[in-house]
Amino acid sequence: MEYKTLLQIANDFESPVYVYDSEKIGTQYKRLTSAFSKVKTLKINYAVKALSNISILKLFKSLGSGLDTVSIQEVKLGLKAGFSPDQIIYTPNGVSLEEIEMAAELGVQINIDNLSILEQFGTRHPKTPVCIRINPHVMAGGNTNISVGHIDSKFGISIHQIPHLLRIIENTKMNINGIHMHTGSDILDIDVFLYASEILFDTALHFKDLEFIDFGSGFKVPYKEGDIETNIEELGEKLTKRFNAFCKKYGRELTLAFEPGKFLVSEAGVFLTKVNVVKQTTSTVFAQVDSGFNHLIRPMLYGSQHEIINISNPKGRERFYSVVGYICETDTFANNRRIKEITEGDILCFQNAGAYCYSMASNYNSRYRPAEVLWHNKKAHLIRKRETFDDIIHNQVEIDLGSK
Ligand SMILES: *Cc1c(COP(=O)(O)O)cnc(C)c1O
Repeated sequence: MEYKTLLQIANDFESPVYVYDSEKIGTQYKRLTSAFSKVKTLKINYAVKALSNISILKLFKSLGSGLDTVSIQEVKLGLKAGFSPDQIIYTPNGVSLEEIEMAAELGVQINIDNLSILEQFGTRHPKTPVCIRINPHVMAGGNTNISVGHIDSKFGISIHQIPHLLRIIENTKMNINGIHMHTGSDILDIDVFLYASEILFDTALHFKDLEFIDFGSGFKVPYKEGDIETNIEELGEKLTKRFNAFCKKYGRELTLAFEPGKFLVSEAGVFLTKVNVVKQTTSTVFAQVDSGFNHLIRPMLYGSQHEIINISNPKGRERFYSVVGYICETDTFANNRRIKEITEGDILCFQNAGAYCYSMASNYNSRYRPAEVLWHNKKAHLIRKRETFDDIIHNQVEIDLGSK
């Protein structure tokens, strides 16, 4: 999006504000479907948790996408956005049997990731089709915060437990219609992904009535210069070949499913903040913006680097800054970063703010969560209002503490 447009949005909707470009989301969606165009039935289920605004969900519906959900609330959001239950897969981790039964009641595809719940659910609802989440124990990437395929991960049913898994299915006579893996958000290497896929194919042969194989996600997008991006086109070519060969061997055309979040929305979003204070200390220059990790926690939580552009002074000379927030806690967005000279009042634009930014925002310091704007058909649409003081207090119950 043009800086001029973004400045206008910051002016009209005030800061801080998240802005999403619907065209970029569409482009990423097309890239993925094109890369797998030689698969007979491809199903993309957008991972709601990355960015769960209902207008964004509607946009995905218009693109032909389904949804991947991790809570009953996300399921309800999807239904409210107009998705039919069969377009939604529910892939929770560590939730109660009751919640899974609730989701099954709503008619969405259930995905179970532990043997205890599988046995209980299968005993009570042997006819409900269930997908199972396998942990192939593949460490994809080096960041243990987000790589979930390793041996001590809390996600999925270990491939070493397949014998027990098969016994439960035999005992309950339950119907397994899909198998799934999601090895984390840090897949750098297509070969690692293909390696994990082989484990999934081997596992699939144990089940006679599969309809789909879900390869999860973990596709990488560049955040900073020099970052690697998953080569979707290459993955598409290689996995398609392998998948089609597998279907032949299996004796049936299966659906190939993915559930990307970051790949589809990360680059489509920016976060606009205003510089409140430029503060010179003995060793650095701080630019303090009207936000903090209450609005964008990824740098503090994962050490993520979001590019920051001073869109108020794009032609200025570069200086080194530490960009920090205004909450009473260390909330560093960027350390010693080269940015065009900053003046108080400038608008700083954080890149890659589409995924896991707004959806992780909180009210810490009793601050309001920001507004969200969708840039669609060359127009800015408010898709979430900035919170107000009412939002801070409306669930609080003031009690009478009595008098002494
Ligand atoms: C979070 C999540 C995804 C999406 O991961 P990205 O890295 O954003 O693509 C997909 N599947 C499951 C089960 C998830 O929990």
